[in-house]
Amino acid sequence: MSTTEQFKEIGHSGGQVVIRVGTDNQGRRGCQLTWQHQRPVAAAIFAVYALPQGVAVGQMNLGGIGSVPNPPPVPGCFQVFIGSDSEGRFGHECPDCEGYWRGGAGAQLCPYCGVRAPLHNFLTKAQRVYVAQYCEQMAEALTANIDGEYVIDMDAVADAAGKGVEKPPFYYAEESQQNKFSCKACGSFNDILGTFGFCSICGTRNDLQELSGKTIPNLRNLINSGGGYERCVRDAVAAFDSFVGRYVTHLLRHVPVTPSRKNRLTERRFHNLESVAADLKEVFDIDVLDGVDADGVAFAKLMFHRRHVYEHGGGEADTKYIADSGDTSVRPKQALYETQESAHRIAGLVLKMGSNLHKGFHDILPPDEEAIKRYRRFHDGT
Ligand SMILES: [Zn+2]
Ligand SMILES: [Zn+2]
Repeated sequence: MSTTEQFKEIGHSGGQVVIRVGTDNQGRRGCQLTWQHQRPVAAAIFAVYALPQGVAVGQMNLGGIGSVPNPPPVPGCFQVFIGSDSEGRFGHECPDCEGYWRGGAGAQLCPYCGVRAPLHNFLTKAQRVYVAQYCEQMAEALTANIDGEYVIDMDAVADAAGKGVEKPPFYYAEESQQNKFSCKACGSFNDILGTFGFCSICGTRNDLQELSGKTIPNLRNLINSGGGYERCVRDAVAAFDSFVGRYVTHLLRHVPVTPSRKNRLTERRFHNLESVAADLKEVFDIDVLDGVDADGVAFAKLMFHRRHVYEHGGGEADTKYIADSGDTSVRPKQALYETQESAHRIAGLVLKMGSNLHKGFHDILPPDEEAIKRYRRFHDGT
């Protein structure tokens, strides 16, 4: 992705909230809300219930035409429409880690820390200010003794985006982040800071799709073009190392383990395949070597040892490498070399072990199967 697409303000999609205040035949004053939108940009909305003081307290399911919305969590709430940005996405902010991201409506968890919360708890600061302003306007419309139409003009908000003009009181806009990805499991759009995270809709980690869709194919291209096999081996093992690190961090955050096991997993990097595999098996019952034959395991272990040599030893074997790996085919100081075949082989093994870890991780922290099923039904009719 080009860096110019990062951290750019994305204007509001515009539209107008029309509040029609009237009196029914029994003399009760009430209001009816409609949302209208005429701008040539993508637009979506969701709705929340807010206390008249301006605090969102629940989600309101808009459903389709004719469907009855869920009741508010407390009586007397206002219905507040929250419009998307001009790309049809919503900004969200995590109440726990304060991370910001963009996605579709229906966020269920934070892509960064994985905390689950109802949608109205993921409003951004700017959206919360908007909710407060909106409620103020509603209260004013209802207490003024004049029937008629009141308009909250989000078109003015959209027009003010990206310009050095004074912003309307309802102003909010979103900001593009660094990795825009469609979750492979549920198809949802996410735009997150950095590269890796949970899908905010179904809770599937995106690390495996990054590994299988970008990291490994890029490495294979490099290998096929004959470029630096030793570097490719180093990078393949390093990719696995950081992959394991992220999964373990989240497992430790969400799965109770004894302090000694926790220390064991947090105090060391995942450089040694033998100990990584043993730790993951023992602590989380995850078998990263599942489906890898003995020959493959031995080869992968050797490549993990060689990674140190390529990363820290200038490519020359030393006595520690020979002792740790049991590789007796070389002498200390001898330069190690890889081939196109060995580089491809470790790339394939890293992907296989990554898939095993991903599967085991989601056996423990399952994603939202409903979101995934909906997507599959729509996508391939299953
Ligand atoms: Zn968070
Ligand atoms: Zn997903």
